[in-house]
Amino acid sequence: MPDAVGRSFPKDENCIFCKIVAGTIPCFKLYEDDQVLCFLDVFPIVAGHTLIIPKSHYSNIMETPPEVLAAINLRVPKLVAAAVKGVSAVACHVLTNSGREAGQSVDHLHYHILPRFEGDGYKLNWNPSKLDPTLAARLQLSIGQTLTHDR
Ligand code: 5GP
Ligand code: ZN
Repeated sequence: MPDAVGRSFPKDENCIFCKIVAGTIPCFKLYEDDQVLCFLDVFPIVAGHTLIIPKSHYSNIMETPPEVLAAINLRVPKLVAAAVKGVSAVACHVLTNSGREAGQSVDHLHYHILPRFEGDGYKLNWNPSKLDPTLAARLQLSIGQTLTHDR
């Protein structure tokens, strides 16, 4: 059975999530199909902390083919809704850490589903500042140029 880009599921033998996919490490599985696995995070930061992974090994979102992301994203609404409803939460974060500096510890793409409850007191470290127009113009240029060059 090929993955979403027609490959035979790239794997990394040292990867803990590949071992979970292979069944050599156990998990509390919530959902599985031919492309995707969804299971409870074993070190939850909120109640119902859930992970969604592709069965293929790609290290993070920047390394993952769009077709594989599309296959995951097709399943995301249903899985997120179930994780939220299943713990009687009222809201959630869906996020992916990409790279050590962003807090990624397992180098196999995964989305975290973090259910949120009224008054749960959990705080993402999110400290907004004001966008400086000169910096914004520079960013538009450098990000825009990168997009054009890498097309
Ligand atoms: P990251 O830090 O890479 O964004 O997230 C990796 C997540 O995987 C962490 O939240 C961590 O708790 C979880 N995790 C690490 N090892 C295991 C494991 O063996 N089983 C499960 N279910 N989750 C794991
Ligand atoms: Zn892997």
